[in-house]
Amino acid sequence: MSTPPLIAVATHHGSIAELLADAEFRSLANRDGFLIELRLDYFEDLCEATLAQALEVFAPNVLATYRCLEEGGKRQNVSDSERIHYLQLCADRGVKFIDIEARTPREGFDLRGAKLISSFHNFDRTPDDLESIWNSMAQQRDVDFIKIAVMPQTVFDTRPLLEILRKHGPRSILLAMGESGLWTRILAGRYGSPLTYARGESAPGTAPGQLTWRQLDELYRFREIGADWQVYGVIGNPVGQSLSPLIHNAALKQRSLSAVYLPFKVELRPAEFVKKFEPLGLRGLSVTIPHKEAVLPACDSLDPLAEKIGAVNTLVWDANFSIRGYNTDAEAAADSLQSALGPMAGKNVAVLGAGGAGRAVAFGVKSRGANVFICNRTPEKAQALLRDVGATVTGFDTLAQQKIDAIVNTTSLGMSPNVAESPLTESQIPPGCVVFDTVYNPRRTRLLELAQARGCRIVEGVEMFIAQGARQFELWTGQKAPVELMRQAVLAQLK
Ligand code: NAP
Repeated sequence: MSTPPLIAVATHHGSIAELLADAEFRSLANRDGFLIELRLDYFEDLCEATLAQALEVFAPNVLATYRCLEEGGKRQNVSDSERIHYLQLCADRGVKFIDIEARTPREGFDLRGAKLISSFHNFDRTPDDLESIWNSMAQQRDVDFIKIAVMPQTVFDTRPLLEILRKHGPRSILLAMGESGLWTRILAGRYGSPLTYARGESAPGTAPGQLTWRQLDELYRFREIGADWQVYGVIGNPVGQSLSPLIHNAALKQRSLSAVYLPFKVELRPAEFVKKFEPLGLRGLSVTIPHKEAVLPACDSLDPLAEKIGAVNTLVWDANFSIRGYNTDAEAAADSLQSALGPMAGKNVAVLGAGGAGRAVAFGVKSRGANVFICNRTPEKAQALLRDVGATVTGFDTLAQQKIDAIVNTTSLGMSPNVAESPLTESQIPPGCVVFDTVYNPRRTRLLELAQARGCRIVEGVEMFIAQGARQFELWTGQKAPVELMRQAVLAQLK
């Protein structure tokens, strides 16, 4: 078995004095599986004496970097020879890794047993000729590892990194910065890469998209991920606020499964993403806003309920790599509403919104015998749902005049960060009805506050979120989901 990859926690401190006073970084010194990346270019008080103090605490588990200005370094007017001088002091002190840009001359540099990382950074884009950049770096003298960090414009720009990782993973440290490139940080070990970078828990990080060391270590089990691990994830935009990685990684860990769940920010063309990134080891995906309908062409088959709804929130790969689409929102929403409303047969349920979630909720409650009313901003979408599910279309402003037993909000209004928004004003809420908001972040949305002020019973979206996630877990793994653990993980985060 290959050595588990390391987590290099980058210092962000403006001085060595500040670093030495940081209890979090001191606690990571010489901790198994971790390195401290000393960013010498950040330290205003850098001199031989202060560097010796830092190395006294952190060596040998150090990755020493003195970045040049052209590749993201912080210091003006520093010569290459001065940077090399300080890196040599680190090598002399026995640090494990030294990072030197491929462009920096290093004649006479003596590694003294340290591993050399030759690096290249592009903070604007992903260059077209990544493979030739990699090849020319690999030909340099004494290079142990090749680090290439690029800034993708979309997730599709990260695809060329996968090709290089599959060919040269054990010699490569490949990073796509920003939210679109998160997978390159989390899955490094799947391709045998020696390490990835992380930030301190309260640190801004030294590159966009850096996760904290604790997220990598505890949430994603970064050091355990091997070539045989299965990959699950959520595709959507935005996806950074999604709590799905929290519940699914907690569940996968609890069941000791060799699998990890990642957020993938996919702005456009979700079906193309699914096909192009399947080689990552994808075995299941959650699909969220706004892709639940657009992803349909990626499915080889559809579960009958998903077919009726015309939207999927779950993709499942079978053993033959055939992809089946499901919709776990419908049953999850119906269960959540039923817990407050009781049996739905003959009851009037108004669904606000006619997007992916709106369609799922409408079919879910209809299948339990409810009469469905649809309110949607765009009338054509409401009409389409009316035809498909058999419903009545109504306006947001006329709801309160009708006999409505329950309202389910499936618009994205009120979702963090737009927490002041609500699809209805207080007077538009029919008195005495049950109000269920599928938005779960925040737990208590503006709509639910208004409904409570109106004397209505409320249902939070978090219960539906847990139920739809539990169904996904069971479809993917064939195992019963640890529902209570998933609930605790979400509630702790939303507190
Ligand atoms: P979607 O397909 O993009 O649909 C968004 C819906 O919101 C559409 O009906 C849209 O109306 C409406 N909308 C957006 N902005 C609006 C505005 N300013 N005024 C009025 N209506 C507006 O998204 P989705 O996948 O259905 O998800 C929608 C929400 O459901 C999300 O907030 C998500 O958190 C929630 N959800 C929760 C769960 C859960 O487990 N709790 C599961 C799924 C979804 P138009 O048709 O006019 O654009």
